[in-house]
Amino acid sequence: MREAAFILFVLFLLFGLTALRYRKQIANILALGRTLKEMRARSDAELPREERQAAKALDLRSCAGCGTWIDMNTAIKFDRNTYYCSKECVQRAMTSAQ
Ligand SMILES: [Zn+2]
Repeated sequence: MREAAFILFVLFLLFGLTALRYRKQIANILALGRTLKEMRARSDAELPREERQAAKALDLRSCAGCGTWIDMNTAIKFDRNTYYCSKECVQRAMTSAQ
């Protein structure tokens, strides 16, 4: 019984020394695990926001240059009530204004 206790003690000592020797690597692994967990938690939290963005995508604006209906996410915002569908429309509006 005393031998078993001694073996356990030696194993514990070895484990302790290994942990001490590789503590940087262990810390890295733990940090990596934490980062992965955080990433997963963040992606879970982002899902409802994406759904909200999808709802926002239905918010259409008329292009001030050509009148095409474009959604707010892809529209080029010029000012509060002026949106353009593309750079070309912005440029056309600029050259026609001069
Ligand atoms: Zn346009």
